[in-house]
Amino acid sequence: MKGFKLSSREYQENDTQINIDTYAKKLSIGQGQCTIIAGPCAVEDRDGYLKIASFLKSAGAHALRGGLFKPRTSPYSFKGLGRAGLDIMLEARQLTGLPLVTEIMDVRDLDFLYDNIDILQVGSRNMQNYSLLEELSKLDKPILLKRGLSATIEEWLLAAEYILAGGNKQVILCERGIRTFEPYMRNTVDIAAVALVKQLSHLPVIVDPSHATGHWKMVAPVARAAIAAGADGVMVEVHQDPDKALSDGKQSLTPESFSAMYQQLMEIAALNKTRID
Ligand code: PEP
Ligand code: MN
Repeated sequence: MKGFKLSSREYQENDTQINIDTYAKKLSIGQGQCTIIAGPCAVEDRDGYLKIASFLKSAGAHALRGGLFKPRTSPYSFKGLGRAGLDIMLEARQLTGLPLVTEIMDVRDLDFLYDNIDILQVGSRNMQNYSLLEELSKLDKPILLKRGLSATIEEWLLAAEYILAGGNKQVILCERGIRTFEPYMRNTVDIAAVALVKQLSHLPVIVDPSHATGHWKMVAPVARAAIAAGADGVMVEVHQDPDKALSDGKQSLTPESFSAMYQQLMEIAALNKTRID
């Protein structure tokens, strides 16, 4: 057996499906569903978040993202509203019925986020924070595990293994680009990793074309490529007014560009149903 065991296809032949059925509409991630998670990089203020959340609901998004705790490269950048932003997200969920995704950076926030959030995201910088992964492994809560900044595919799957080995079977993998010698874009998106990991593992794989590229104009092309390569969905940053965003405005879609992309992704996902590979 490989280093990764519980996450491997040898261990489980059929795709894992993750079900979130607390809300008006049941959400299933994996097994050929095309799941679109969308929202701003960070929750910035009540009005802005509620506006974009209700737009995203009407545009067909399946879950809402929004950072409360932001891992910023510079300590002087906006680091999110922290706990103070939670009520805004809860109000957005109330309004839209959509499940919430937010990043957990610190085990000290675990109880607080566990009680309120539907999918806990482990960011790229924390993919190898093994004490955090071990705590998350004890939960009955879906974990969206981003690939580390420079992580190999095996290291990524072994990070997932930490969560599975502790008993939490609900892991969603997220390819978000890796660091290479190419500086033009924020990261280099590894589309082949999507196809490969779908073969190696039964876990759902999604792609984050926003952090992978850093440019909003690259988001739709890379999202289309991701779905065509067999990804189970995408997670994208969308902002009401990207020029005024407090973080990652350059890579954020406007509501209009989100709607155009959404349509294309659904068409590609429908073609996948007849794919033989
Ligand atoms: C994010 O999705 O908000 C984020 C910080 O992404 P990453 O961990 O991939 O950099
Ligand atoms: Mn961001």
